[in-house]
Amino acid sequence: PSPVNAAKTLSLRIIPYGQNQKLLIVRDISERQMLDAARRDFVANASHELRTPLTVLRGYLDMMEMDAQEQGPLAPWRVPIAEMRNQALRMEALVNDMLKLARLESGRAQMREELLDVPAMVQRAVEDGRRLSDGQHRFEADIDTGLLLYGGETELHSILTNLITNAVRYTPAGGAIRVSWTEVPGQGGRLCVADTGIGIAQQDIPRLTERFYRVDVGRSRASGGTGLGLSIVKHALEAFDGRLDIESEVGVGSTFSCIFPPQRITRRSSKPAAATS
Ligand code: ADP
Repeated sequence: PSPVNAAKTLSLRIIPYGQNQKLLIVRDISERQMLDAARRDFVANASHELRTPLTVLRGYLDMMEMDAQEQGPLAPWRVPIAEMRNQALRMEALVNDMLKLARLESGRAQMREELLDVPAMVQRAVEDGRRLSDGQHRFEADIDTGLLLYGGETELHSILTNLITNAVRYTPAGGAIRVSWTEVPGQGGRLCVADTGIGIAQQDIPRLTERFYRVDVGRSRASGGTGLGLSIVKHALEAFDGRLDIESEVGVGSTFSCIFPPQRITRRSSKPAAATS
């Protein structure tokens, strides 16, 4: 139905057909792509528009909560104010994640290409994870300090934050979280976040990166999850031409491995100034 002279996107597939024959299937997917782009634009615009009113609401709720705290436990509206503020925070997290995902889905054209000091970024993300865990988990880091990566800082930051936050969320107190950044000969760079948490059943693993898919909705919501974290990780990794491997066993723990292709990694030069220029 699109105009004849408009640029079209075709999908080609070759499949075996009978003996020694092949079938070429050509599909015009232009319309589907246009609809996808319209959906992404709508989500991005709606999320963007929702941010300002939410910021205003939260600002006032912050002030009201501080006021109620100063007045003590008998302050009128103390509990509803705290609950409204919690819900505003949840909505803010959701709107921010929706915006991030819509931007990532719109393609790699927007990823900035720079040389990333992954060891420093991993170290910072582990520190943030420690703060979030509040002493409830043991953290270990195994970082190849000379290994760097080409790509976008925002995208790598999203990957690290989401995986480490999930490890904290889904690991009971007393468990361990291990983050590693190493080179795998022939494969590229590997960023791993492993935990000794609740684990995931095999049948759920393939669906984890779907938007809003949660194994346990109650647990995810209670811990502040938006249900979009792993979709964000998957799309951010695609921008690096990387892939996500998930291994898990219920009651034992999970390992999320991000594999970055060899052409994206490099070694730190002996002169640090050259490495960052
Ligand atoms: P959420 O905001 O719900 O954590 P995610 O997209 O980040 O959303 O994760 C999707 C679901 O995958 C979670 O709701 C949870 O059920 C499961 N999950 C993610 N990370 C882990 C983990 N480290 N251990 C166990 N389950 C996990």
